[in-house]
Amino acid sequence: METNNTTDKCHKRVVVKVGSSTLTHDTGRLNLRMMDKIAMVLSDIKNNGIDVVLVTSAAVAAGVSKLGLKERPKTTKGKQAAASVGQCELMFAYDKVFSQYNQTVSQLLLTRDITEDPKLKENVVNTFETLFTYNVIPIVNENDSVAVEELVYGDNDTLSAVTAKLVCADILIILSDIDGLYDKNPQEDESAKLIPVVHEITQEIEKAAGGSGSAVGTGGMATKIAAAKIAVESGIDMVIVNGKNPELIYSVLDGKPEGTLFLGKEVIKCQNS
Ligand code: ADP
Repeated sequence: METNNTTDKCHKRVVVKVGSSTLTHDTGRLNLRMMDKIAMVLSDIKNNGIDVVLVTSAAVAAGVSKLGLKERPKTTKGKQAAASVGQCELMFAYDKVFSQYNQTVSQLLLTRDITEDPKLKENVVNTFETLFTYNVIPIVNENDSVAVEELVYGDNDTLSAVTAKLVCADILIILSDIDGLYDKNPQEDESAKLIPVVHEITQEIEKAAGGSGSAVGTGGMATKIAAAKIAVESGIDMVIVNGKNPELIYSVLDGKPEGTLFLGKEVIKCQNS
């Protein structure tokens, strides 16, 4: 079997994305133990001198449970109100868990119009860079409570790849509710096999990814492939691993074969400004 061979590369800057299904229990409430584990690992790698950005989902899910709603609102205004409540809850929880490990976090709420406008993008890049010099761990989400449909990425997989590009990350690690990309959807076909390394995103790979995945998540594998395209074109490796075990991040950074690695192209990296 083919093995991963990321990286004898030295990782100085890492973007980690975590999805709603990893961050919430089946009840829809925040999985605090999981948040704590993620905070511990990210704080530890930060202590080891690596710049870290966390891209997080789960604002709507957190808002829905905090408001005591029986289900996720179907209207845009309902979802936006839930995101507004949930974003607070989410950041409060992150601030608490990261503080235990003596880390300062910040919140950056982005939308597509910001990252695609040269001037606004430059401001965001400068903010990230300044936060790194202050040793802060920026926590990014889409600005779901105010964004209009035309201006959103709509999924945090794509947002995480755009963020990785903005900060010139060496690697993007996506913590998913599954071990990686399979050659077909394992929920539908038990014979599905994990793909350890993707050298090129072919039509076959896109076909394997199919449509949206879980009830609480919005992405599925299709948006992860979209994210991988952005990352690899910018020379950034992307790895999908199972978020149940955030310690896999250590293995990935050590260059060990975990989940699915999308190999970044050999390009002149870092074109964020
Ligand atoms: P998260 O945002 O936590 O990663 P998602 O539910 O959005 O969660 O995406 C992962 C889901 O995508 C898997 O649990 C699975 O149901 C679905 N999926 C569809 N096709 C594939 C595939 N080829 N390989 C792996 N997962 C797949």
